[in-house]
Amino acid sequence: MKPAQQILFSTLFLFTTFSVAAQLQYLHCGRLIDCTGGQVREKVTVIVDGKTIKEVRDGYTRAESGATVIDLKDKTVLPGLMDLHVHIEGESNPRSYLDRFRLNDADVALRATAYARRTLMAGFTTVRDLGGSGVNVSLRNAINQSFVDGPRIFTAEKAIGTTGGHADPTNGVRRGLMEYAGPEVGVINGPDDAWQAVRQRYQNGADLIKITATGGVLSLAKDGSNPQFTLEEATAIVQAAKDYGMTTAAHAHGPEGMKRAVLAGITTIEHGTMMTEEVMDLMVEKGTYFVPTISAGKFVAEKAKEEGYFPAIIVPKALAIGPQIQDTFAKAYKKGVKIAFGTDTGVSPHGDNAKEFLYMTEAGMPPMEAIRSATVTTAEVLGLSDQLGTIEAGKLADIIAVKDNPLENIKTLLEVEFVMKEGKVYKE
Ligand SMILES: [Zn+2]
Repeated sequence: MKPAQQILFSTLFLFTTFSVAAQLQYLHCGRLIDCTGGQVREKVTVIVDGKTIKEVRDGYTRAESGATVIDLKDKTVLPGLMDLHVHIEGESNPRSYLDRFRLNDADVALRATAYARRTLMAGFTTVRDLGGSGVNVSLRNAINQSFVDGPRIFTAEKAIGTTGGHADPTNGVRRGLMEYAGPEVGVINGPDDAWQAVRQRYQNGADLIKITATGGVLSLAKDGSNPQFTLEEATAIVQAAKDYGMTTAAHAHGPEGMKRAVLAGITTIEHGTMMTEEVMDLMVEKGTYFVPTISAGKFVAEKAKEEGYFPAIIVPKALAIGPQIQDTFAKAYKKGVKIAFGTDTGVSPHGDNAKEFLYMTEAGMPPMEAIRSATVTTAEVLGLSDQLGTIEAGKLADIIAVKDNPLENIKTLLEVEFVMKEGKVYKE
């Protein structure tokens, strides 16, 4: 080694040693729900080294010199929460249907940064964005590159639908104002289009694929539950997604479209409103996850009663579909369908994601299972169980804290007091 190299080497070495020590953080946790099982531990130290959890020790360990101590002795500490169904680009309001004619991508993007920040501050360190314009891909990148504070985003980019279906952007628009929509913008007819649309999402930077397997509440169309993909189309979507290493999510209210999506091998069913026992059995058999989004059901049912909030074509659908989701969730849970936490936030306001815990427990799910559905199960769906979902050595340091014990007071999850994502503290 030449002298100059030697100096460079030792400088680098010193710097590295110093910065590693400075990155150590000792979290003294009064209560810890690590989600590895159903237990609550008391007086525990979580040692974070850089972005990851180094060790979890009983008792309050004295920190080595240079390390930071974070006092959470009067709080309950949990893994960062995950929401598998949000739309981070927008938030519904009585003018939502005009926004797409008024807002430029930059307007959407700047607003989305606020929604992302609110989501993170509410304790949600990871989300799946199930459909927007494509701005969600840029937002994901900006967050990953530390330009914007927000949750880790896995995005479907733009949802895929069929002509006139829930994800057709030309619905309700007069002829000539918008061009014919094809696979490029996620509107397909037939298996070949399905492959093209998936490949286009891949090229656009999507992490996963979302389809609208049935009609939906908030699109400008009459039917909120009819099947909108043939079995061949749904199968082509799932096969194409698999080729590109992507999982799949299907929006579905009616049972026929839901059944086809499950048979096609979809990863998650979203909403699941009119799920029959037959579909539940099929989901158990195939290991399909159910993402309930009770929050969205409650929100649209309530807003449909407000004069002028939704266009007239949407009101009867919102009133019929909204109130059913919670009951369906209760039945599916009892049947043993795997439940993964998701809210459809963006329909309801960003930052209110944790309300779903109230609705889930109200419908009979024990608080610990509801929490695990938003940590362990969501990590499983994302294929990231080795990195996320529990507080254990080797996992990424996504850690939150609340005041009370959520097993006794689930509402405490609505007021998250501490947020760490990948070892960085965002709220203290
Ligand atoms: Zn949605």
